[in-house]
Amino acid sequence: MRTYPIPMVPGPVRVPEEVLQAMAVDYASPDLEQEFLDCYQRTAENLKKIYATRESVVIQSGEGMLALWGALKSTLLPGERVLALATGVFGYGIADMAAQVGAEVTVYGLEHDQTLSNWDAIEALIKSLRPKMITVVHCETPSGTLNPLNELGRLKTKYGVPLLYVDAVASAAAGPVLTDEWQIDLCLGGSQKAISAPPLAAFLTVSAQAWEIVEKVNYKGYDALLPFRSAVEDFYFPYTPDWHGLAALETATNLILAEGLDNVYARHERIAHLCRQEVVEMGLRLFPGSDAVPSPAVTAVYVPENVTWVEFNRRLREHGLAVGGSYGPLAGKVFRLGHMGSQADEGLMRQALEVISKVVREL
Ligand SMILES: *Cc1c(COP(=O)(O)O)cnc(C)c1O
Repeated sequence: MRTYPIPMVPGPVRVPEEVLQAMAVDYASPDLEQEFLDCYQRTAENLKKIYATRESVVIQSGEGMLALWGALKSTLLPGERVLALATGVFGYGIADMAAQVGAEVTVYGLEHDQTLSNWDAIEALIKSLRPKMITVVHCETPSGTLNPLNELGRLKTKYGVPLLYVDAVASAAAGPVLTDEWQIDLCLGGSQKAISAPPLAAFLTVSAQAWEIVEKVNYKGYDALLPFRSAVEDFYFPYTPDWHGLAALETATNLILAEGLDNVYARHERIAHLCRQEVVEMGLRLFPGSDAVPSPAVTAVYVPENVTWVEFNRRLREHGLAVGGSYGPLAGKVFRLGHMGSQADEGLMRQALEVISKVVREL
């Protein structure tokens, strides 16, 4: 029996039974074997479909942050210019990470309740700055927003920016992530958000142009991308193969593709809409501004005024509902419902809304 039978934390999400079972198998041998590489390739093919790309996909053992760091360190050299588009905790965080790597970072930043919309201002910055890389977050999980990205690829190509880096950790498999159409070079993901596996894999798409840069930069480190370029052909892995983790990821992505991506996205839209509508009807206030794009994966809501977050959270948990708090400037002010992947479920959402409504009425 679960302590919190109504899981609504925006990652890690509830892991489906089939995925748990895939981890409970005794695989061929714990060492690197052809069967492991076959599973790696099948899983990479699944991820290519989810990321709408014909470029390559790298899967690393670890979690989302590993790929976020690895992709920066593998492509940037000290002093190179980066334009970081930031609308939330992860967007500003990635700007700091790029600065840690030694890049010369310019931040185009908005408030956390906003999403990108002023493409003229962004174009002017790209034109004057001529960055090597543009970074952006698709779904800002801490604030429940979704940055539209279709314009960005056009600008990247118009000004010959070598790399577009997109954190799609929370949006992949919750809504369309059109990597090739949006001309993304490095599109990042993690296993425990909408993919609905445990937190055991980080993955990313790598464009041909990005691979050339990775070769040139030649970064060596635990999170380096380069060893993955020829890992399958060379029958070589930079570390111990995680058979169980990879099997979980393959099964989780199989489930998504079996349902059909369009159906999966429609399910997320429907549940996200239901969530926003009901929360507003209870008299609560949504966090994203009225001109911001809300995320299909997570809804951020202001904590009611007459209660602290700690007390509100305690009461929700008393009724078996686990939601997320938030981070940075939103900590204590905003709570979040993670309706991504396995949790984009109408029955589960209705149970969660019932608990919130009851707790709000009793305040
Ligand atoms: C969860 C998340 C990450 C970090 O992933 P971890 O797997 O927790 O390391 C990065 N970016 C976004 C937008 C996320 O939601």
